Amino acid sequence: MPRRPNTPCKHPGCAKLVPHGQMYCEEHKPSHRYDVKTTKEKGYGRRWQKARGVFLKAHPLCVKCREEGKLVPATVVDHIVPHRGDPVLFWDEGNWQPLCKSCHDSKTMTDDRYQDFKY
Ligand SMILES: [Zn+2]
Ligand SMILES: [Zn+2]
Repeated sequence: MPRRPNTPCKHPGCAKLVPHGQMYCEEHKPSHRYDVKTTKEKGYGRRWQKARGVFLKAHPLCVKCREEGKLVPATVVDHIVPHRGDPVLFWDEGNWQPLCKSCHDSKTMTDDRYQDFKY
């Protein structure tokens, strides 16, 4: 059986080759899969921007990377228990954890019933 040639990733500026039939490389797949935002989530707005800023200052390192002994700056506040629009879970700081972008994306990928808040 002849092998089909690999094709470049469709992400702008990415030249990585992916197996025929796939659109994006492993790195870019998550960001394109979850492009769609739901209108409900936009409502948290400024208050959330401020709260996550304070939280990331107090917790500047990604907890998942730290478990592996890596020190990676966190850029995302993740909800440990998916809030699914529940304001109590959403605003409960005990339910927040600092993550870097790549840890956050891989978590979102494994739990695709749930779409996390996009910043
Ligand atoms: Zn790519
Ligand atoms: Zn990480």
